[in-house]
Amino acid sequence: MHSVSRQISCSGKKIGLVPTMGYLHEGHLSLIKKSKELCDITVVSIFVNPTQFAPTEDFEKYPRDIEHDNKLLKEYNVDYVFIPSLEEIYPSGYQSYVYVNEISKKFEGEFRPAHFKGVTTVVSILFNCVNPDLAFFGQKDAQQAAVIKQMVSDLKYDIEIVVCPIVRERDGLAMSSRNVYLSPEERTKALTLHKAILYARKLIEGKEMDPQKVIGNMKVIIGEEKSIKLDYVGIVNTYGFREADLIEEGNEYYILVAARVGNTRLIDNELVRLQ
Ligand code: AMP
Repeated sequence: MHSVSRQISCSGKKIGLVPTMGYLHEGHLSLIKKSKELCDITVVSIFVNPTQFAPTEDFEKYPRDIEHDNKLLKEYNVDYVFIPSLEEIYPSGYQSYVYVNEISKKFEGEFRPAHFKGVTTVVSILFNCVNPDLAFFGQKDAQQAAVIKQMVSDLKYDIEIVVCPIVRERDGLAMSSRNVYLSPEERTKALTLHKAILYARKLIEGKEMDPQKVIGNMKVIIGEEKSIKLDYVGIVNTYGFREADLIEEGNEYYILVAARVGNTRLIDNELVRLQ
């Protein structure tokens, strides 16, 4: 990968990297499309990264289908697929980690304490292998994108981070590789999360400026679905991911939600911009 990327860079071409854990869906494909639009060469990496999963989480059973992924990537005319082995990324004796402090602590960081350390470490390794000019991430994992932007700024990576909008199923469920875990009944219940987010957006657009009131309303909607176990709801500034004390016109916010539906943990969010 190093020598391929060096050759591409020497020829003056722009490299776009789309890091994924595979089991590709339309959400991943939207990032690939954006990369192909903005870059000369698109590299898609597929690596299910063990260091971002806690021992109790789903690393072993995370869905994988490299054959199908490769077929899709061929159809999309992706230039390079980078599928490193576990041993290549973390050879025995591996000991270096990248940790972004404050922004990794709240929300996802509270419920998955080692998660972002694993993410920033592997993304850092992928950046060093691929040496991209641009890297593409989904707003679906809004905090992850914010953490990576902070890492890129702090560690002076010369890489532009592009965040692409959430791709949803027709009924509003945010696409995710983990949606395959949901039974038909759980899948219907999972829609409650998006319903709560949309209601929150409506409240904010109707000039409800108190985040706690909006959050309270979301909790009521989600609470009505007894089988959903809420991890958090929150309203944060898009830049810096700090909790909003007050919703102000002219600013941008993410309405966040994370919950478990049965054994499946889902996250979702919505960007709101008050003019
Ligand atoms: P993953 O394979 O789940 O690690 O995701 C790889 C990238 O795809 C991440 O940057 C995700 O945020 C992004 N992604 C996942 N689901 C979606 C979606 N529904 N819409 C847009 N981007 C997504």
